[in-house]
Amino acid sequence: MDDVDFDELVASMTLREENEAIKSYQNTVAIACPACDTPFDDLVVCKENPTSLNLSKQLDLCVGTADEKALIFTHKK
Ligand SMILES: [Zn+2]
Repeated sequence: MDDVDFDELVASMTLREENEAIKSYQNTVAIACPACDTPFDDLVVCKENPTSLNLSKQLDLCVGTADEKALIFTHKK
């Protein structure tokens, strides 16, 4: 896949949650996932390395990196 243009991605999304470890954005404008080309639900940016995610739902995940940060694109089942 092409490099993810992180600034472009987050510019159109809504910041929903931020804590020490992660930042999560809601994909309110149905941007296509860079990995699988279907719109994702949320983007989680990992700020710490390593980071644990506590997922409350069962999700399909796509991953990428931008500026050496891990990006996780979630898709609801
Ligand atoms: Zn995907």
